[in-house]
Amino acid sequence: MHELSVINSIHSIVLRHAALHKVRKITAIHLEVGALSDLEDRWMQHYFDFISKGGIAEGARLVIERTPAVMQCADCGSSFEMGKTRDGCCPQCGSKSLALVGGKQYLIKNMEAL
Ligand SMILES: [Zn+2]
Repeated sequence: MHELSVINSIHSIVLRHAALHKVRKITAIHLEVGALSDLEDRWMQHYFDFISKGGIAEGARLVIERTPAVMQCADCGSSFEMGKTRDGCCPQCGSKSLALVGGKQYLIKNMEAL
């Protein structure tokens, strides 16, 4: 049920923006979701349809874009996509002290409205 709480907060943020800009109907919401996030597209849309029923965002389409997971090297400070490591080491300096700094986040990029 993780998607439900995420969708709930996305929905309320979207409604707040809509009220601010005097929007009558929201038709689409563009989201960026980290590649490592366990959010599934079809469940997100399913929950969104459920939550938005009867509101101004009812029927809005979720346009979901996956962003790559990002690692950062503790030794040289460079950051790079997870797939770019060299045998699990930093591609710049070869260090193994890598930390995951992105890939699980989600973010509302913009929305389309009438
Ligand atoms: Zn490094």
